[in-house]
Amino acid sequence: MSDAVADGKSGRLVDAKVASDDGAEINLRPQTLAEFVGQRALCDNLAVFVAAARQRGEPIDHVLLHGPPGLGKTTLARIVAQELGVGFRATSGPIITKAGDLAAVLTNLQPRDVLFIDEIHRLNPAVEEVLYPAMEDGELDLMIGEGPAARSVRIELQPFTLVGATTRLGLLTGPLRERFGIGMRLEFYSADELISIVQRNAALLDLPITDTGAVEIAKRARGTPRVAGRLLRRVRDFAVVEASLPVDEAVADRALTRLEVDARGLDSMDRRYLRLIVENYAGGPVGIETIAAALSEERDTIEDVVEPFLMQQGFLQRSPRGRLITAGAYRHLGMEPPKRTQGELLDGHTVATNDSHNFSSGDDGVD
Ligand code: ADP
Repeated sequence: MSDAVADGKSGRLVDAKVASDDGAEINLRPQTLAEFVGQRALCDNLAVFVAAARQRGEPIDHVLLHGPPGLGKTTLARIVAQELGVGFRATSGPIITKAGDLAAVLTNLQPRDVLFIDEIHRLNPAVEEVLYPAMEDGELDLMIGEGPAARSVRIELQPFTLVGATTRLGLLTGPLRERFGIGMRLEFYSADELISIVQRNAALLDLPITDTGAVEIAKRARGTPRVAGRLLRRVRDFAVVEASLPVDEAVADRALTRLEVDARGLDSMDRRYLRLIVENYAGGPVGIETIAAALSEERDTIEDVVEPFLMQQGFLQRSPRGRLITAGAYRHLGMEPPKRTQGELLDGHTVATNDSHNFSSGDDGVD
């Protein structure tokens, strides 16, 4: 990876996870459901739940949002609080290490507040136990002291709404999942939705941009608003330095090409991933641990960020025996796809007749 693309936690410009300079995005966050672009069905349903809860003066049922990073889970949780006219508290699974930490957060909530727990699949089991009665009965059961003097204390909580977010629904325990009354999945955004998001962000940043400029950035944003915002800010840097405003197709293309983001939004990490499987494993199948080790990347990053997008683009398939590259991926890399066994080619989501390539079921341990 070149320094030119250094950005964010993993150093990838197109990484959908939060990056160091993403704080600037906070001003760009939509504040209401009406302002929120895309995820229409989900937003329409949320609007109904919010309106009903307002009428009754009650909190809405606990909500579980799941989907890849950067699609708007945190933003939606904030919007729910905003629309309900209540307070918003945010924390995350790995931050709450002790049951007492969670108890402190819960006992500090005001009536009907929204508590947002990001990466909720990473809560430790002892903390999760505390959450069950809190979600179900609005009570905390705490043990005070140790040994024979220990006693259990029950504390009544204010009614609240828990909004949990996860990139890995499959890693959530059954009992936790069951306690959410509302479960919603966020999808990657369409090209048109991303164009609107780029135009909206450009307007908020006071950056002149043409329609074709917005299209060029949207096309390369991996279906993800966070990436769209980040690419726009980097393109703005180039445009301002080169004094080439408004941002049009040529300016956006030049900047993003220099940043090694290709026409489909793949960056050098994605291409390294695909090339590894093509060159070292004859297109797969190959296991995730092997890939992570060979790329010196965390398995989580590969599974959360790299693979969902490559699969959505039809470049990658997951099977019980491991990852497989499609014919489309070969073509994208400018390579001729190999002939598969029985003379068939892997293409898009259809697969060679080999039984072991069963893509309908799970894979090697991920959801
Ligand atoms: P997640 O919690 O799913 O990782 P966030 O809610 O933090 O994602 O969203 C990432 C960024 O993308 C936000 O800062 C926001 O500016 C932007 N964003 C997300 N969804 C939308 C949307 N539907 N419309 C406009 N901007 C959005």
